[in-house]
Parts: sequence; C-alpha cells; structure tokens
Amino acid sequence: MKILIAADMEGVSGVVAWDHVSTNHPEYARFRRLMTQDVNAAIRGACEAGATEIVVSDGHSHGRNLLIEELDPRARLNSGTPSPLSMVQGVDDGVSAVIYIGYHARIGTPYAILEHTWSDERVADFRINGKQFGEIGLNAAVSGHFGVPVIMISGDQSACAEAAALIESIETVIVKIAKSRMAAECLPPGIAQDKIQSGAFQAVRRLKNGQAPKPLMISPPIRMEIDFVQSEMADKAALLPGARRDARTIKYTAEDMPTIYAAFRTALALARG
Ligand SMILES: [Zn+2]
Repeated sequence: MKILIAADMEGVSGVVAWDHVSTNHPEYARFRRLMTQDVNAAIRGACEAGATEIVVSDGHSHGRNLLIEELDPRARLNSGTPSPLSMVQGVDDGVSAVIYIGYHARIGTPYAILEHTWSDERVADFRINGKQFGEIGLNAAVSGHFGVPVIMISGDQSACAEAAALIESIETVIVKIAKSRMAAECLPPGIAQDKIQSGAFQAVRRLKNGQAPKPLMISPPIRMEIDFVQSEMADKAALLPGARRDARTIKYTAEDMPTIYAAFRTALALARG
C-alpha cells in the first residue's frame, strides 16, 4: 500500500502570514521545519496503519521547502519544479491514496489563512464546469483521474470544511482556527502533529478496510474558467492554444483532468510572463 503525501505550507501548524511561507523572509526557516514535522507525523500514522511505501510531494511555491535531512527515512521526496503532475507528482505511479498536509482554502473563502488558488497575484477565481475549485478540488480531481482518492487533509477549519464538502467522509485534522485571513488560534505544533498522526492512522486504516472516500471523478467534457486579476494577464494567457477569452476570463475545455491541469499551469505561467 503506497501513500502519496501532498504537502503545502499555508495550512501548516502556526502559519498565519506570507512571511512564514516566503523563502526570502527570516521566519521561513522556522516554518519549513514545522512543515517537515507535520509531514513526518503523517508518515508515522500512515506506516503505523500499514502503509508500505510513502512518497511525499513538496507542493509549495518552487517545491523546495521540506528539509530532506529531517524527513522520516521511510519516505521518498519529490522536490523541485516543474514536475509533470506538480502538487500531486507521483499520483500516477501505483499510489493507493493521497493525504493532504498543510493545505489551504480556495480564493474568496472567509476565515481562511492565506486563502488563494495557486497564485495570489494572478487568480481572482477558478471554476471547473461552473463550480468554484481551489487547490483541494483541483488536485483531488487530478488524483481521481488515476482512480486515487484523497483520504485526509490537515489545515485550518475552512480548508477542512472545503474538503469535506467535496469528498464525502474524508478524514480532517484542524490544526488552527482562522479568525481572519492572517490571524488564527493555533494549536502548538506538538499537539497538532499528534492529531495529524492519528488522523493519518485512521485514514489509512479505513482505506485498508475498504472504507476510504471515493476518488473525485469529473466527467468529460471538462470546462475550466480562470478569472485573472488584471486584463494584461488574460491577454498573455489567451496565447494558450485552444483557449477562449472573455474579458479577464480564460476558458478552456478538455476531455481529461491531466490536460486541464497542464492547461491551467500553462495559462498561469503565460500570465506571469
Ligand atoms: Zn502553498
């Protein structure tokens, strides 16, 4: 039983500000260590419940946050960017289930620490088949294409609620209660990590007993819409072959989620250029 731990940083215990998750800030060194510890807690729980193989994908920013020298040696680490499947790199390689660690709510969610969808500067909103999606839904739908369910999430209460609304009976571990976008009541890391460990244990045990959530499947045709923050960004993203433009919105249709994911990432890369 192989588990993919997809790790982001905004939903890590104690994180409440961009300074905590930005490489150029002195505070970053503390929080990348806490991110590594949250991931290690999930590895302990998953292995305790019978996982035989663990792969971790570092999904925040450039994918070089987790401290490999402090990572539980039972895991292998996907690090760096770009990788073919980005935040869920490795999900197409014999994985039984995904665990989200340090995830955050989608753009526009109230009471959610550092809520955004992929890029705070570029994305004003994102929809799949007319429904709002954030990184939780997007990565779950890519995983679902490969028949892989997301079985657990850790983050603030809003990230956990977003996941629970999308994925029935997902195991949720709330490590902080957001009071605004940049303020939260946080559990001390040791306590949060104990909760993550037992959440991962429960989630993998349920998987083993055939009681895991179902993979999130989106039936084709799949239509995505990205609302950009500025018109100039839509001008650039409209260069994506096959994209249609409507004011600041770029629309794109495909038959499967990996194509949508690639088009989404390409549109965002163009918009930055
Ligand atoms: Zn992130």
